[in-house]
Amino acid sequence: MFPAFTPRYSRLPERFYERFEPVPVQEPRLVAFNRELAQALGFDLAAFDAEEAAVGFSGNVVPRGAEPLAQAYAGHQFGGFVPRLGDGRAVLLGEVTDREGRLRDIQLKGAGRTPFSRGGDGRSPLGPVLREYLVSEAMHAMGIPSTRALAAVTTGEHVVRGIPEPGAILTRVAASHIRVGTFQYFAARGDMDGVRVLADHAIERHYPELAEREGSERYLGLLEAVQTRQAALIAKWMGVGFIHGVMNTDNTSISGETLDFGPCAFMEQYDPKMVFSSIDEGGRYAYTNQPWIAQWNLARLAETLLPLIDADSERAVGVATELLERFPDRYEAEWLTVMRAKLGLEREETGDRTLIESLLDAMHKGRADFTQAFRHLAHAADSREGDTAFGELFERPEVAEGWLASWRERLTQEPLSEGERARRMRMANPAFIPRNHRVQQALTAAMDEDDFGPFETLLEIVTRPFDDQPGREEYARPAEPTERVFRTFC
Ligand code: AMP
Ligand code: MG
Ligand code: MG
Repeated sequence: MFPAFTPRYSRLPERFYERFEPVPVQEPRLVAFNRELAQALGFDLAAFDAEEAAVGFSGNVVPRGAEPLAQAYAGHQFGGFVPRLGDGRAVLLGEVTDREGRLRDIQLKGAGRTPFSRGGDGRSPLGPVLREYLVSEAMHAMGIPSTRALAAVTTGEHVVRGIPEPGAILTRVAASHIRVGTFQYFAARGDMDGVRVLADHAIERHYPELAEREGSERYLGLLEAVQTRQAALIAKWMGVGFIHGVMNTDNTSISGETLDFGPCAFMEQYDPKMVFSSIDEGGRYAYTNQPWIAQWNLARLAETLLPLIDADSERAVGVATELLERFPDRYEAEWLTVMRAKLGLEREETGDRTLIESLLDAMHKGRADFTQAFRHLAHAADSREGDTAFGELFERPEVAEGWLASWRERLTQEPLSEGERARRMRMANPAFIPRNHRVQQALTAAMDEDDFGPFETLLEIVTRPFDDQPGREEYARPAEPTERVFRTFC
């Protein structure tokens, strides 16, 4: 069933990983399977069999040609450095070449205790597996770079997180699982040869346009390329009200994909200081901190590359710093691109930033739902009836109406017809996101009742985020006060 593996990471030096086979589970059962993605990866679906798939995606049988391993990495967790983290509950089966010719990692998350597990059990409860499945697929559907979910199996075993919960394994697909923390792992050991081999591998996989460059230009180029992708990624998160929740350097992907969906959440009422994660007590990873945390994480990557950038450390610090200082402008440009699209602005005008900020400010003061406000704005673009629905999202509709007037004034400088503008705005402003209470309801039904219906329905809805879906309007609405989720857990 699995396509042919084309092992890459396992051909890197032995110290990059620990060879490790998934620990078999008692009774694997396939509870979710992403046919479309499987197709794109070259799986043989003609011969698809759910039982065989459950065995394969549980790791009970290692697919032919796979060279499974647990990757070594380090990381700053909430600002504190941990020199050895690594895959404590994940196994990289290996890479496959998808139908577009791209190398893709296939990883089993929750596959048992590895040499990196420390005190952990190497397993994952069903809840986080389904959460990652829903949110990563929703991100992808919204056009936001993200790891993907290929399959979920339950294990027939319990994992204890305070109380016993059903265990599960997620099959995750990624451009790669190379993280800022992977670079830190080698740098912290003074293993500059390791850093160089890793950098060359990352360039080959993600930034082949740098392959021709040599020496300083090559590694500075890598830093710049990662910075560019991170700036674009975070701007896209901000555009949908996504709060990652645990932006540690070990969760910052070199490919620029969203990685690790532990305590992540989408904002409902707009509040720039919003934090959901139960472990983020200081609010380090609050919504508006995200770009600056990304910059901080990039600085940690830069530190690992310094000796490759210039043998003279002072000069290396100089050029790296100069590059990192360009992050705010880069991010700002990406953010403006995202926000202009949300407001239906094709042209760039000097007052745009102020116009966007005054909308966000009105949303904050008026406690408007982030997703609904922008979606209703899209409707207001080609229907004046939309104005009323938009205004009603704010505590004081007259504030929203005042803002709409300045927006319409700005639109007089725009080239597109109302209809075309509205159409494009609906492609920039999702109607459906995985709202926290809906995610919670889907997880609870699966965990407590073995009922995957709500999960399947929600998945279907959030993977068509830009379509109006008649009959599903309730999924576009925020939680009622009694349903509201204030805290999320890994
Ligand atoms: P995360 O919070 O998912 O980014 O994980 C941080 C580190 O803790 C990684 O090295 C994980 O592999 C490890 N880890 C998390 N949960 C477990 C677990 N249940 N068993 C073993 N290691 C774990
Ligand atoms: Mg992680
Ligand atoms: Mg995690």
